[in-house]
Amino acid sequence: MQPTSRKPSSYEIFPYAGHVAYFSMEIAINPAMPTYSGGLGMLAGDTLRSAADLSIPLVAFTLLHRKGYFQQHLSPNGVQTETVQPWNPADFCVEEPARVTVLIEDRIVTARAWRYDIQGRFGHVVPIYLLDTDLEVNTGWDRGLTDHLYGGDENYRMQQEIVLGMGGVRMANALGLRVNVYHMNEGHASLLTLALLERQLCGGPLRAATETDIEHVRRQCVFTTHTPVPAGHDRFSTEQSIRILGGERTARLQQLGCFKDGMFNMTLLALRFSRYANAVAMQHGKVSRPMFPEYAIDTITNGVHAPTWISEPVQLMLNEHIPAWQRDNLYLRNAIDLPEAEILAAHARAKEELLAEVGSRTGVVLSPKVLTLGFARRAATYKRASLLFTDTERLAAIARAAGGLQILFAGKAHPHDGPGKAIIQQVVEEAARLSNDSLRILYLENYDWGLGAKLTAGVDVWVNTPRRPYEASGTSGMKAALNGVPSLSILDGWWIEGCIEGVTGWAIEDGANDQEEAESLYRKLESAVVPLYLDAPEKWARLMRTTLAFNGSYFNTNRMVKQYNRNAYYPQPLLQHAKVEEPVLVE
Ligand SMILES: *Cc1c(COP(=O)(O)O)cnc(C)c1O
Repeated sequence: MQPTSRKPSSYEIFPYAGHVAYFSMEIAINPAMPTYSGGLGMLAGDTLRSAADLSIPLVAFTLLHRKGYFQQHLSPNGVQTETVQPWNPADFCVEEPARVTVLIEDRIVTARAWRYDIQGRFGHVVPIYLLDTDLEVNTGWDRGLTDHLYGGDENYRMQQEIVLGMGGVRMANALGLRVNVYHMNEGHASLLTLALLERQLCGGPLRAATETDIEHVRRQCVFTTHTPVPAGHDRFSTEQSIRILGGERTARLQQLGCFKDGMFNMTLLALRFSRYANAVAMQHGKVSRPMFPEYAIDTITNGVHAPTWISEPVQLMLNEHIPAWQRDNLYLRNAIDLPEAEILAAHARAKEELLAEVGSRTGVVLSPKVLTLGFARRAATYKRASLLFTDTERLAAIARAAGGLQILFAGKAHPHDGPGKAIIQQVVEEAARLSNDSLRILYLENYDWGLGAKLTAGVDVWVNTPRRPYEASGTSGMKAALNGVPSLSILDGWWIEGCIEGVTGWAIEDGANDQEEAESLYRKLESAVVPLYLDAPEKWARLMRTTLAFNGSYFNTNRMVKQYNRNAYYPQPLLQHAKVEEPVLVE
């Protein structure tokens, strides 16, 4: 008997005969590799870790970032200084023999790739190729192109993006990979579309590209935007584009509608050449659509990789009561039934570990009994780290009423972000001024993966105070939720979806200005958070388990990657097509 003969649908072929190629300027790969700066890189890493767990055929491209992002140092009064983080790729990665070239300002720049394998729960490997231009054939300047994540000026940035996007496509080719889908994680990688179009033209001039050629590229590309405000999108001047990319390319990109307000816009390039685009939280979809009205923008809400972010004590408890959570995070919904005493005990251990870390870093001994708030994120002005200090007397009164209050801050400001650095200074100064017997405030140096994991697992409440609608998603509150830690946050980004008042945390209500929102923050602390913390411990335990059950089961990359696979990479209009493509049996 012959096998069934039928025209195979794309769904049947794609998952088994090719890869998704995931492109991201930063990826948090390993805690000891400084190849990320913050949320975007963490999300990329968590995405790859879940893709490996789910055995999805996926490879990733990024830059090597030989000198890392930066290590943060804070003076006693909160002045941030930075040092480079050189690391040795050979300690973690294997060098691939393949070499590719890209053209930058009329120079031919050669790149190689270092491979790092992420292994999933069931052994499936997702390789990450880290592009590196530090080769003797290149000039001194070009050898440094893959050194600094978000370092240098706009020229350096554009040249890096050529290496990532165009170099990445050529590297995939040189490695013999068959790629079905190119996924651009944010606009930094969108020059990959230009490399695909040029490949489609087989060396012919760009001006000869037809609608069919463009459609051919579009069918292969998907794009995720992460930026909720126009100023956040990567843009380059026409002069820069002509000088670095070339005149003909620039003219063609202009013609194709990739320019806005006289600037070459990487988001528009990505959208123009993608068959699918998405935002990263429902609210972010709403604010993204009016920014790009000519494009359809779907939403896939972010998540975090549960086994990476759940503390060891909580994992041990979950393994005991809900072992299936390890293969499918949806089973975390059963956390609703966890014994109250056990969730409190697991959290107490995570809190002890955090306080021990704080002690060894600062010499300050904090109390495990005292209500502890956490606030850690990039020190950007819109995140308003100092909102808690709007009325310091009221904060001190809350601390006394609560029988003590401990607040832990952390976060780096980008080296060129003066206002961000000023916020750190302000928080450090207020911390010194306000700390007394009942109120302890500390700013911890060098927020990174390891510190982030300890903080989100070990505090009692995770606080977030962004100015709406600047938080596209936010993910640190999801890490907290997976540890049963409730959030007290502004209703922006993911929290609009995640907040069930009094069940998964509390909303800071919208106000007309910072003053009003601070007022709501204090009111929630006084009327909800502190009274519940001081009440019976079982009540707090119930809050922790509803947080874990409702938000842990959803805001994870296990769910998110399945959504990407189904909605973005291999859309399956099964119900529509099932009837049309009836399988035909041949005897
Ligand atoms: C999770 C994480 C972030 C992102 O958190 P947000 O809530 O998006 O601010 C940034 N930096 C580190 C080190 C993280 O672990």
